[in-house]
Amino acid sequence: MQSGTHKLLEDIRAELRYTRSMIGRDTFDERVMMAMEEVPRHHFVPDHEQGYAYANGPLPIGHGQTISQPFIVALMTDLLACGPDDCVLEVGTGSGYQAAILSRVVGQVRSVEIIPELARQSAARLARLGYTNIETRHSDGYTGWPESVPYDGILVTAAAPAVPPPLIEQLKEGHRLVIPVGPQYGHQELVVIEKRQDGSLSKTAVLGVVFVPLTRMPSDSQGERT
Ligand code: SAH
Repeated sequence: MQSGTHKLLEDIRAELRYTRSMIGRDTFDERVMMAMEEVPRHHFVPDHEQGYAYANGPLPIGHGQTISQPFIVALMTDLLACGPDDCVLEVGTGSGYQAAILSRVVGQVRSVEIIPELARQSAARLARLGYTNIETRHSDGYTGWPESVPYDGILVTAAAPAVPPPLIEQLKEGHRLVIPVGPQYGHQELVVIEKRQDGSLSKTAVLGVVFVPLTRMPSDSQGERT
């Protein structure tokens, strides 16, 4: 276990106790907790933030973006309810940390990032650390990743004013989309959208959250695989 991970897991369990009446659970799936234990967060955090790598808080990663709070990463991964046979799409690669956590829990991860520099850095980092079941690319995740649809789960790590319709289309029936919904500086909620077998949707708001906004790329400048 990485030094610091033990304390981080304790802090995640403590936050689970405080929030259990809101999030409707008092434990996370064992595979999620194992992933939180195994993935070395300090590799995803800038040099000048190393002292906080295993603190249960978000940290700046440059370009005005953040690596999410570990508790929220664990919660979102747990809410997806996906397993080893599943292929999951993440929108907002950022540092690559959430993608790395997902890659320990599900079979295949696709992750898209809109800021070219972050997309390049996270692709290089994930390759260097040996995460072979993650494919990344630089593009506008509002439109998803249409080439490998449908997905067994979709996780969005930036807040949208409303759920992007292309992501609902790209979700398999019987599966879940986890997304923070709300304005940049206003009230945002972490929402779970479940697409039922008949294609109808159920929506559950889980917890108030703070995320950077989901931005858009002009449609004539779509990026490429990193
Ligand atoms: N999951 C990341 C958290 C990153 S913060 C991690 O574990 O580090 C959210 C990220 O979403 C930022 O990097 C931001 O640039 C990215 N983002 C915002 N809008 C986007 C869009 N339309 N498509 C893809 N990425 C987007």
